[in-house]
Amino acid sequence: MRKYARKMKRIYLDYAATTPAHPEVVKAMQSYYSNAFGNSSSIHSYGQETREAIEIARKKVAALINARSEEIIFTSGGTEADNLALKGIAYTSKDRGNHIITSSIEHHAVMETCDFLKEQGFRITCVPVDKYGLINPEDVKKAITDKTILISIMHANNEVGTIQPIAEIGKLAREADILFHTDAVQTVGHIPVDVNEIRADLLSTSAHKLYGPKGVGALYVRKGTKITSLLHGGEQENRRRAGTHNTPAIVGFGKAAELAQKELQHESKHLTSLRNKLINGLQKQVEHIYLNGHPTKRLPNNANIRVDFVEGEAMLLSLDLEGIAISTGSACSSSNLKPSHILTAIGLQPDQAHSSLRLSLGRETTEEDIGRVLEVLPQIIARLRAMSPLTKSSMQEKTNA
Ligand SMILES: *Cc1c(COP(=O)(O)O)cnc(C)c1O
Repeated sequence: MRKYARKMKRIYLDYAATTPAHPEVVKAMQSYYSNAFGNSSSIHSYGQETREAIEIARKKVAALINARSEEIIFTSGGTEADNLALKGIAYTSKDRGNHIITSSIEHHAVMETCDFLKEQGFRITCVPVDKYGLINPEDVKKAITDKTILISIMHANNEVGTIQPIAEIGKLAREADILFHTDAVQTVGHIPVDVNEIRADLLSTSAHKLYGPKGVGALYVRKGTKITSLLHGGEQENRRRAGTHNTPAIVGFGKAAELAQKELQHESKHLTSLRNKLINGLQKQVEHIYLNGHPTKRLPNNANIRVDFVEGEAMLLSLDLEGIAISTGSACSSSNLKPSHILTAIGLQPDQAHSSLRLSLGRETTEEDIGRVLEVLPQIIARLRAMSPLTKSSMQEKTNA
């Protein structure tokens, strides 16, 4: 870890990458490591108490998305849920068709699974997005062929925060008798998600994005939907996901789901107000700064901003020295130089994508934190712009244009 010159309160503004487990979540998990450590497949009382705990957690996760318990498959996280949804349906349905519709702004877990399926002979159509990162349901409808077996469109984008019209997409999928999957990792526990309202047949979620532990997630699979398992060798999860249950993590996920359901409404309001304060404050103080993503159809906690003529990476590092943790896109694109596929899909040029920052707020974000960012970030931007010989002439040009 980097050493800081002076003691300071660190400010975490990267909740879209991961969240800290809630203290009650940690507490709920603890006894399942030591006292109640039984294997859920065992017949004896140790197994029985573990099984019961898992079923209670399953009910809580199901309740959060208005599903039935038996429609929840616990996985190792969002990535596995996405893999299971896409490969599981592709393998099951390959006799009916080989065509999958997805979007140009999906998480890598969906995008790269589609690339893999393409190598196996499936045909993938990527529908585009507009400058706000919004998908037009008409484009999805137009892409449907008699070979289409699955439509997979994320609920809200992890980088720019745009919330998709998935209820409309779910409706048209249902009308065309095509299965609909949505990666709802960024929305479950943050905004209301109801699998029946959006007519999802499959939905991915992950505990560590909603103040649960890492390494556990779930795939919702609508009752009656056949899906091929990716893991074989056990009876767990109705033979749809073999392997001894990670009981503590599943219990923690259940607790996190229960807490999220209680706090969702209040929290989303609170975060929207803090987030708007942040965006407005920056726009007031800094020239040539733009919001990426949709102004209103966006996650309550997401602020993704483009700061022209400054490298995102330079801002990230300068903020980190001030103890403020943000991201320049999704965590996975932070370490390579290719611009994020999401930012290029909304029409940004590579240099504009590289000037973009994602600040994502969460449960522990305070007014003071936002005040500190509004104090520090404009100074950093001014300093970095002053250091760049290009800035002055290009800013002048732009102001005159
Ligand atoms: C974080 C994330 C994932 C991956 O979930 P993991 O549990 O980290 O594997 C998938 N999709 C989206 C939209 C995400 O934000």
